Amino acid sequence: MAHVLSEGNPDRRRDWILSPEPLKPRARDHALVGVLALQGDFREHRLVLERLGADTREVRGTADMRGLDGLIVPGGESTTMTKLMRATGLDQVIREFAARGGPVFGTCAGLITLARETVERDLPTLGLIDIVARRNAFGRQVHSFETELSIPELGSKPLRAVFIRGPRIEASGPGVHVLAAIDGHGVAAEQGMVLVTAFHPEITDDTRLHQRFLDMVHRQRNAGSDQAAARQHAREEVVS
Ligand code: GLN
Repeated sequence: MAHVLSEGNPDRRRDWILSPEPLKPRARDHALVGVLALQGDFREHRLVLERLGADTREVRGTADMRGLDGLIVPGGESTTMTKLMRATGLDQVIREFAARGGPVFGTCAGLITLARETVERDLPTLGLIDIVARRNAFGRQVHSFETELSIPELGSKPLRAVFIRGPRIEASGPGVHVLAAIDGHGVAAEQGMVLVTAFHPEITDDTRLHQRFLDMVHRQRNAGSDQAAARQHAREEVVS
């Protein structure tokens, strides 16, 4: 440092001493949320996130996971998505992301891929939330329907939920908070930093679930910068 301070004009030196450059790069104002884009309706999720002020990135390979503050696994076809995640190595990187406390939101096929297992035991799921998912749980004839769901955590106004060959939560562990149910079966739940819905909030105008997810993302970002500040503080204590 001494050689830097001895150079240049004295005023700049004084300014540098009184207000040193920040040691870490200035934080981004917006959260950066990845949307798994191997298959399914990832574009709809991006649009909602951007409407809510988040920056987004389509995730197609492991390098796209770098620097993300959160990840959405969209609806689509869970068998195809799972195979593509394995083929790209994203399955492992997403598990690691979640293990570090990275927030993850799965909708419909996304719920299935994040589950501990499926009733059918036909899929190597990621196991990020302690639920057992039953695929195509709402009957073969009626593949799609819409309903008004009561979700107390989102306020008194019911949420219009669109089910498209959706799954349901057949069983869940004690750490899981079921947010909404139909006929006694969970269709939305969360555990720690993982949120899942059996339906498609990305194709309606109601943004409350995406907002809930972004609130999780912001909480984690703030916790992360508090930890970084504490580490910095500890370093300064050691030095002084
Ligand atoms: N039935 C699909 C599956 O099992 C999910 C449907 C959806 O995501 N809309 O993967």
